[in-house]
Amino acid sequence: MNISQYYSVDVINGPGTRCTLFVSGCVHQCKGCYNQSTWSLNSGVEFTQNHEDTIIRDLQDDRIYRRGLSLSGGDPLHPQNVSAVLKLVKRVKAECPDKDIWMWTGYVLGGLSDLQKQVIENIDVLIDGKFEQALADPSLQWRGSSNQVIHYLK
Ligand code: SF4
Repeated sequence: MNISQYYSVDVINGPGTRCTLFVSGCVHQCKGCYNQSTWSLNSGVEFTQNHEDTIIRDLQDDRIYRRGLSLSGGDPLHPQNVSAVLKLVKRVKAECPDKDIWMWTGYVLGGLSDLQKQVIENIDVLIDGKFEQALADPSLQWRGSSNQVIHYLK
């Protein structure tokens, strides 16, 4: 898996202060997507063990409290990302059990593969669905268009 960006302290993508990881690779090609540079699986840099360790360390850092981890992209549930993302979310839940995990995907909850569902079992909130320009609404919180749904899973 490649990643496009990692923010160790972020107050934009989800509630509270968070760590946010933007992965690379997305097949949805939504018209009006503001993250087109992340569509290619080859964009960004390789996600290494060092990146994973850094995220865990940042989430455990008492000097700057983070409420949790946000996973966006690109698409964390792209078939070629899902194994690495599953390993990451399982590790976060095991080593940072008080942190919440939010995830954004262009897939819809009802149409996920078995492996994608395993990821969902290890996160707290999923915002699903493609960005639909005709349904875009800047007043919406945590989502870009009204077809997208915030699923509180826990
Ligand atoms: S799912 Fe997200 S990253 Fe992918 S094309 Fe749509 S808006 Fe862009």
